[in-house]
Amino acid sequence: MKPVNDVLSQFGTTIFETMSILARKHGAINLGQGFPDQDGPGFLKDIAVRAIQEQPNQYPPMPGLPELRQAVAEHNKRFYNLNVDWETNVLVTSGATEALAGALLALINPGDEVVLIEPVYDSYIPMILRAGGVPKTVRLMPPDWTLTREALEAAFSDKTKLILLNSPHNPAARVYSHDELSMIAEMTQNYDTYALCDEVYEHIIFDEHKHIPLMSLPGMMERCIRIGSAGKTFSMTGWKVGYVTAPSHLHTALCKAHQFLTFTTPAMVQYSVASGLGETDAYFDNLASDMRQKRDLLSTGLKNAGFGVLDTQGTYFLSADIRTTGFKGDDVEFCQHITEHAGVTALPMSAFYDGPRCTTSNQQTKPSYFVRFCFCKKESVLEAASAKLTEYFRG
Ligand code: PMP
Repeated sequence: MKPVNDVLSQFGTTIFETMSILARKHGAINLGQGFPDQDGPGFLKDIAVRAIQEQPNQYPPMPGLPELRQAVAEHNKRFYNLNVDWETNVLVTSGATEALAGALLALINPGDEVVLIEPVYDSYIPMILRAGGVPKTVRLMPPDWTLTREALEAAFSDKTKLILLNSPHNPAARVYSHDELSMIAEMTQNYDTYALCDEVYEHIIFDEHKHIPLMSLPGMMERCIRIGSAGKTFSMTGWKVGYVTAPSHLHTALCKAHQFLTFTTPAMVQYSVASGLGETDAYFDNLASDMRQKRDLLSTGLKNAGFGVLDTQGTYFLSADIRTTGFKGDDVEFCQHITEHAGVTALPMSAFYDGPRCTTSNQQTKPSYFVRFCFCKKESVLEAASAKLTEYFRG
């Protein structure tokens, strides 16, 4: 038989899946995959239930329900002072994943280059390649993941169509500062490129850090596509509702991709998310402070077990240096080892580097002593994981 598409078939089972299978096999606490083990607000569920009973269950409008698109526009104004027209600038998608895929399909012509920042989230490179794009990575290294002008500049060329920027950054847990964003903005203007901004963790941000959409910098509204996710903002990752804000010329292109990919997104969850986005400041503050407490709990637990814990400015994830535990292998061996012997699963940071057909602008060797732990779990789970690791490494 004829082969299936050779771009996607070169990607094997993801590390997320491989480690989750291993975690199940050994009955380990899975701090690999990133999803909360407690659902978001019950009242949002009630809205979805009522909508199923009382609203039409047929195709909602292709770009999303007006209620949700208006709520997204208001959210942009309220949090970032962005002036957004709900009809010409907002699109609802089936999760941020669809928004990302649709934007890449809508923007890339074969041979266009896409600048990415490594470590890189897993869906980006397959979709760039499938759209015919050429990934160019800028490699950030732990412990501080510094983004330099030289490395960024070396990744841009006349062929660059866009930069894909994720802030707060999964897995590095970094939030880009105003200075870094200004440098990126300048680069997109110098090379006349777009910026696809994955901002799904915009409300999961800690300490003094502040999320600044690249779109809010001077002159950047015209170049940016900003993506949010109800999954993260309302702790319902299974709902798969994404929302995109874009200038009207890009919005038209994005709608075309969306209409051929999924056409629309289930209405009942759109009603809930519309209501959720209008929640009081207390909701958004509590989301961040709950996650911060979980971060602190796991961070203390890991330090007690002997890990070096890196700064975690946002997201569900924290990175840990394994060398201080005394383990002699690399990060992949370490994750397998602790799953089998300590009963806790994490993900190797090296899995977020070195995508196929990527050219790296700064040729540093990828890190091999760092692992990613997910902390969006119940306190009892984080305590149990910390106790197991402490017992194993210090017991
Ligand atoms: N981008 C990043 C950086 C993510 O971590 C995730 C979820 N793990 C997504 C996009 C996907 O979001 P959604 O579930 O809304 O498709």
